[in-house]
Amino acid sequence: MTGPHVLAEEFTAVFGRAPDGVWRAPGRVNLIGEHTDYNDGLVLPFALPLGVSVAAARRDDGVIEVRSRQAATPVTAPVDGGPVVVEGWPADRAWAAYPVGVARVLREHGTGGASLLIDSDLPQGAGLSSSAALECATALALCDLHGVEIDRPALARLAQRAENEQVGVPCGLMDQAASLLCTEGRALMLDCRTGLSSQVPFAPAESGLTLLVVDTRAAHALAGGEYARRRAECERAASLLGVDALRDVTDLAGALQKLPDPVLRRRVQHVVTENHRVEATVGLLRAGAVAELGAMLNASHLSLRDQYEVSWPEADRAVNAALRAGARGGRMIGGGFGGSVIVLTAADRADRVRDAITTAYEDQGWPHPSFLEATPSQGAHRLT
Ligand code: ADP
Ligand code: MG
Repeated sequence: MTGPHVLAEEFTAVFGRAPDGVWRAPGRVNLIGEHTDYNDGLVLPFALPLGVSVAAARRDDGVIEVRSRQAATPVTAPVDGGPVVVEGWPADRAWAAYPVGVARVLREHGTGGASLLIDSDLPQGAGLSSSAALECATALALCDLHGVEIDRPALARLAQRAENEQVGVPCGLMDQAASLLCTEGRALMLDCRTGLSSQVPFAPAESGLTLLVVDTRAAHALAGGEYARRRAECERAASLLGVDALRDVTDLAGALQKLPDPVLRRRVQHVVTENHRVEATVGLLRAGAVAELGAMLNASHLSLRDQYEVSWPEADRAVNAALRAGARGGRMIGGGFGGSVIVLTAADRADRVRDAITTAYEDQGWPHPSFLEATPSQGAHRLT
């Protein structure tokens, strides 16, 4: 990852002119609220210091040209075009569907062409939302370059639309909302039904705490099929209960009595209690009781493991080892069956916690996990 000035110099060398500016959008971690988004529920992401930077210059020839330091093939495409996913680009050009897709969606709102040079320090496909960071950095750049003003909640919807319609990924709103709306030292409570959000103070370092993201190095085997199955189970439970979405279940005990299938009962139990845990977490954060979050993370993990049944051995082992080493709490994050875990620990215990997890993996002959200290950081912005 290069700084904005080096990126601007490289842009000049590649495109033969200086960029008009450099924009940056972060990745995110969802603190709590897992598998709640497609049930119209609550999530609580915060922005990472890691993200995607885009050096960009306006073009008025209706063309978008994109290059990435993380992708071998540069792509030039007309801004005026149908869904990229329908055009069926070859694999080496597939990455460009994200920025070109954003340009095609935003074109309806008055933006036009651009030349973009992209750079990132965010791992791709690791569940930290590099795709939304790429979309949001591109979206911000295009709006500024073409003098188009779109408020950030609306811009998040448009970036989501680009991923849905242009890339063909049926993602929810969380990643784009987090990238555009998060602020430093805060998490973002997002209501996935209304799209409304509020800022919640979250600065673990100020309470002597560290939030670690542990990449368990386990790939998302099963993830696609199991994810689709969970979504279908939630829809079936909601329809059996006569509600639009599991978000609407207010009487959990009554709902569980109505469901004959023990699998559906477990799914409903998770979704309903997870929404409560998001609200409880927001209450704790507003009260300044950050250390107490550990209990929420632990409860979320057990619910995801036992009720929603989406955890995986490396995640369980990381959480258990962290707790034994004195961490406040931890949970798996993301869809499940692979990916990362977050751990909240006293800052002065963080090294011990890392060592304990690494040793627990060594005992199993598993590859070493990697660690990232997650500081709630600012959302997308212009760098130069
Ligand atoms: P995640 O969002 O969790 O990182 P996704 O599969 O949603 O995972 O998005 C990853 C994809 O986004 C990559 O496969 C690539 O196509 C694209 N992408 C992300 N960052 C970059 C980058 N810096 N350069 C090129 N493509 C990128
Ligand atoms: Mg993504």
